Amino acid sequence: MDNQDPNQPVAPPAATPAPNPERKSLDDRAKMTELERIRHSCAHVMATAILRLWPDAQFAYGPPVENGFYYDLECSHRISPEDFAKLEEEMKKEIKANNVFEKLTVTREQAIADAQSGRLGGLAERPGNASKFKLDLLKNIPEGEPISYFKNGDFIDLCAGPHVMRTGNIGAFKLTTVAAAYYKGDEQGPQLQRIYGTAFKNKTALEEWLKLQEEAKRRDHRKIGAEMNLFAFDAEFTGPGLPLWLPKGGAILEELEKLAKETEFQAGYVRVKTPHLAREKMYKTSGHLPYYAESMFPPMQMDEQREQRERLTARVAELDRQLAGMSRQLPK
Ligand SMILES: [Zn+2]
Repeated sequence: MDNQDPNQPVAPPAATPAPNPERKSLDDRAKMTELERIRHSCAHVMATAILRLWPDAQFAYGPPVENGFYYDLECSHRISPEDFAKLEEEMKKEIKANNVFEKLTVTREQAIADAQSGRLGGLAERPGNASKFKLDLLKNIPEGEPISYFKNGDFIDLCAGPHVMRTGNIGAFKLTTVAAAYYKGDEQGPQLQRIYGTAFKNKTALEEWLKLQEEAKRRDHRKIGAEMNLFAFDAEFTGPGLPLWLPKGGAILEELEKLAKETEFQAGYVRVKTPHLAREKMYKTSGHLPYYAESMFPPMQMDEQREQRERLTARVAELDRQLAGMSRQLPK
């Protein structure tokens, strides 16, 4: 997080999976921009390519996001950036084939049957490998709302659209990264692989964006701040994303705080202090929890952890005793 509030517990940004988007309404979908359509269509193309390489993959959500798209999936193969080259090769074939994104409207019964046979979110029926996430997503489609598939080549996905007309309309794309994500953002739910990519109307736009990413990396405040000796990161002492402020950085912090205090004082504010650790109710009252829950540290469970530690200590002592007994029986 860029604006760190000292009273707010902050978790490492990269380790926390992004929240899953709410299901888009048909109205929201109709408003998707051309670029969003290109990107979402590219998620279908990526799924097609993944299935050609690893046919057991099960797909969940695949929305466009700020800088591209992702698709969440479960797969026996753990996809890593080393797989991107061959995955992109498969994607290029699907784009070159210039398949139409064909819309099919089906009944709920048909959709459930297709999900049960593994056909939904697949290239063919997959006996014994039902499209479990699609089955669940079907339950979220309100009664009376039309259920539609989109088909490109052999790939059929449960989707309300919209897409570009043909796979060939995806001008340029690139797979960017992989992450872990929980299904529907629920920590109790299955953990999925999230593959991110981006797509643009043409190669020039993609290359421009990639160049900007490089520039942004060069201008990364975490890198520059460390180079300027403002702060240091040291995973041995603190968690990731938690800087240790050095004298120069400390001086900047103090000056900023002084400015904040003066500005607030002039505006008639008075300051209060809260402890750094508080109960959930405090963060609800402060308004942090409803908006920042994803980037906050989870609640501490002191008693549970103490009990667990005691159980483990007792178990280790018992194993020690057994080991001592065994060594006594060993022939001298
Ligand atoms: Zn779609």
